[in-house]
Amino acid sequence: MRKNHYTTKNYIIAFLGLFFLLTNILTLFINPSFSKEREKKHVLILNSYSTTTAWTNNIVKGIHSALNDKAFTYSTRIEYMDSKNIHTEDYFEKLYELYKLKFNHYTFDVIIASDDDAFYFLKKYHHELFPNTPIVFCGLNNPKGSILPKDPLFTGVVEKIDIKSTIDIALSLHPNTKNIFIINDVSSAGISNKKYLNIITPEYKKRIQFTFYDKLTTTQAQEKLQSLPQNSLILLMGFLRDDFNEVLSLRESCKIISKSCSVPIYSFWDQSLGHGIVGGMIISGYEQGKIAGSMAVEILNGKKVENLPMTKESSNSYMFDYNQMKRFNIHPSDLPKGSTIVNMPSQIYAISKKSIYIFIFYIIFLLLGIILFLLLNISKRKKIEEKLRKSKRAYRKLLEFLPYGLLVHVEGKCVFMNPKGAKTLGAKTHLEFLGTNIYDFLHPSYHDIVRKRIKKLENGYNVELFEEKFFKIDGSCIDVEVSATPFLQKDTVGSMVLFNDITQRKKEEALQKSMEEEKKRLKEAMEYDTLKTEFFSNLSHELKTPLNLIFATTQLLELNLKNHPNTHKSIQILRQNCYRMLRLVNNLIDITKLDAGYFELELQNCNIISIVEDITLSVSEYVESKNISLLFDTNIEEKIMAIDPHSMERIILNLLSNAVKFTSSGDSIFVNMQDKGNYIIISVKDSGIGIPEDKVKVIFDRFRQVDKSLTRNHEGSGIGLSLVHSLVNMYGGSLRVESEYGHGSEFIITLPVKVLDGDNLKNYDLSYMENNHIEKISIEFSDIYSLR
Ligand code: ADP
Repeated sequence: MRKNHYTTKNYIIAFLGLFFLLTNILTLFINPSFSKEREKKHVLILNSYSTTTAWTNNIVKGIHSALNDKAFTYSTRIEYMDSKNIHTEDYFEKLYELYKLKFNHYTFDVIIASDDDAFYFLKKYHHELFPNTPIVFCGLNNPKGSILPKDPLFTGVVEKIDIKSTIDIALSLHPNTKNIFIINDVSSAGISNKKYLNIITPEYKKRIQFTFYDKLTTTQAQEKLQSLPQNSLILLMGFLRDDFNEVLSLRESCKIISKSCSVPIYSFWDQSLGHGIVGGMIISGYEQGKIAGSMAVEILNGKKVENLPMTKESSNSYMFDYNQMKRFNIHPSDLPKGSTIVNMPSQIYAISKKSIYIFIFYIIFLLLGIILFLLLNISKRKKIEEKLRKSKRAYRKLLEFLPYGLLVHVEGKCVFMNPKGAKTLGAKTHLEFLGTNIYDFLHPSYHDIVRKRIKKLENGYNVELFEEKFFKIDGSCIDVEVSATPFLQKDTVGSMVLFNDITQRKKEEALQKSMEEEKKRLKEAMEYDTLKTEFFSNLSHELKTPLNLIFATTQLLELNLKNHPNTHKSIQILRQNCYRMLRLVNNLIDITKLDAGYFELELQNCNIISIVEDITLSVSEYVESKNISLLFDTNIEEKIMAIDPHSMERIILNLLSNAVKFTSSGDSIFVNMQDKGNYIIISVKDSGIGIPEDKVKVIFDRFRQVDKSLTRNHEGSGIGLSLVHSLVNMYGGSLRVESEYGHGSEFIITLPVKVLDGDNLKNYDLSYMENNHIEKISIEFSDIYSLR
């Protein structure tokens, strides 16, 4: 309680006292005039009771607190009369003698008397003991009003205890109270208080029974108070005595009473608070002492006592002990407003029930609010997380399905690669690239350029589309198209690179380029070929004109020189070579016509069987002259279809002349025709030298001859078969050869059967073109005769 507070304060006072003392000593040496002003004052504090009385001690502390405030030095003497224990006249006389002896040569500037006995003692003896010394009293219960104003040396503060307010608050806190037991003593204060009580009790008489215990010993108190009826209160006004009739302090008395009974105890003495009483309208000994001390200071400062009127303003207030309140279920909110509560464990207990409920409600409300906020926050967060998950999935899918490789690198170190990127570089998983250096798979010829591009990216610029070369995991090199943008990775600027394998595209581009070049070359070649064809055509026509003239001249000469056998022979050789030249020129003209697209078939509905048979038979004379047998066979006698008899004549004669040319004496030639309904087959087969297997494919090519040496034996230009092939193609048919080297060859023509609408059948007769045909045979077979 306050004890600690006062002890600390005492230390502070002692320290300050020491400080002032030292300051004064110093001042004495430094400024003697000042020291004179600060003359030392002497104060006597005369207490009615002993040092064991808390009330008295509180008064002394109050006096000192007032004196310590002031700027002068003083010395105090404190006397304790111990009148609680003994207060006989004899005792007071002996005290007078003692003080006379003690203070005979001592003069005080002011005397402070605490409580009634000290006041009355001084009243009686101060003229002899302390003549003319001003007296300031405090704790005076019964000032015996009549005497006070008459003595000009007496002033002070009257102890106005408020017993009624204490009873009233006790009854309001315990409304069922029926009995109040008053513990008092027979000291002058006790007697005086009892008198006052007797005046006010009738007011409560109807409902309260008052019982007085004036001289209780501790043993009696324990016995009597143990069995107090329910609905009782104790009003503690005075002291107990021990079994040796020694007075106990109010504090000790309070403790014993509190232990002895189970009913609430109320009192108005501050020294009992905290030692067993619930509380009451408490009078403070400290405040009494402080007021008295302040009045003493004013007297020391020179104020006349008569100008300092007695005061009744003692500061009483409602004070309660929290421990006892708890014991008797009294809540702080039940107390009068402004009450002081001691032994409060914490300020929070002083808060009223309502405030606590409001506080709890507020806390619950706040917690609910927080929970609601957190729930909303959690659900919001969950939604955001779900969105984030979805977006992550979408992002992952996007990266997986992205048709381009995606690579993120920081300062050249790969931190991300998407699956497509890994696949492009031939890796099984994109994880293979994490932490690798991009220069490991970048072609060295691009290292410098890429370094420059990375610098540009780090400065925040995008880099435009660019073609590079990457190495795949297997070491092969691919062409890639790359674009990049800056990418913030933590605090560093990295690069996000999008790349695409363009190897195939590059190949296609190269192919396209070469194709265009080829096309150009082809065009040039075709132009050249046209030129060549035109040249051949011109040349053939130019050759044919003098040749015809030579040929006509030869015929004329032959007629004229018929009777000159030697010359006739030479003319025959001349005519034979004219035929050969004509054959060559005709073939060249036809070939160039075919190439130029000017050659047209003059189709007519004819019996192809008879035409082919007639042509075959027409050369039998020539063939047989070489001792080669010629046979014609057919499975049908007539097949009407649209043909050009002249071109058919060229085809068959050419094949027959070849057959004769490449067969030897005694061999055979078979011409066979087969009707297959929609198409017809014409085969010219011989048992001649045959064609080597590797040459079979090339004999239809223009100017191709199987053997140059053979060519020398068998004249020819290598145009015949090419011409036949082209003519058969014009019919929409095909020409193929089956040959066994050394055993003979078979040339097979397949012609589709077509008939012209509305065209009458032409009976094509070789006699119709007799002369013409004989000449054609002569021309076609001109290679065979050896009239040289
Ligand atoms: P040529 O005017 O040289 O006879 P062709 O185009 O008619 O030209 O024939 C080309 C070549 O085909 C001949 O030189 C010959 O080597 C070969 N050839 C053609 N017919 C026969 C055949 N019946 N037997 C063997 N070889 C043949």
